[in-house]
Amino acid sequence: VKLSPVRIGSIIKDMLPMLRNEAVMRSVLLHYESWPDGPLILADKEMLKQVFLNLGKNAIEAMGTGGVLTIRERREAASATEVTVDIIDTGPGIDRDHLERIFDPFFTTKEQGTGLGLSICRRIVHEMGGGIQVSTGPDGSVFTITIPVMARSD
Ligand code: ADP
Ligand code: MG
Repeated sequence: VKLSPVRIGSIIKDMLPMLRNEAVMRSVLLHYESWPDGPLILADKEMLKQVFLNLGKNAIEAMGTGGVLTIRERREAASATEVTVDIIDTGPGIDRDHLERIFDPFFTTKEQGTGLGLSICRRIVHEMGGGIQVSTGPDGSVFTITIPVMARSD
């Protein structure tokens, strides 16, 4: 891993054109809600790009054709020491009995799936001191990534 100070928005903006291609092919609407001048994080840019790309692709794949994918940068509270990114889809949600296995390597419900995406995402995010959570229901799923912000020197 190669850590450097970066704004999470610049990572998402780098990755967005690739995701937009996939979205257009599936008639998925892609919304990006950025947090301008959000805090700096210490991250491996390329690896974090992979995380958002993986989560975005999963979201698009879950929706089949149509639907809305929203990527939202935010912070939990004014005093929060982390930056949060939600990846929100309007897909069918995740089966209750699958939920605890989706982060396991090789768990997939897709014919051509590797089942590696989420396990890799989780490992990368944990290496940066962050976390990944999921909430899901019949109207869709939300994958939430939290990354610690860099300590300020003032
Ligand atoms: P793969 O995409 O190769 O199947 P992943 O590790 O990325 O592997 O995902 C594992 C499984 O988690 C998927 O096969 C799918 O069943 C489920 N999953 C992941 N993201 C979503 C989502 N946004 N909506 C519904 N199910 C999902
Ligand atoms: Mg995947």
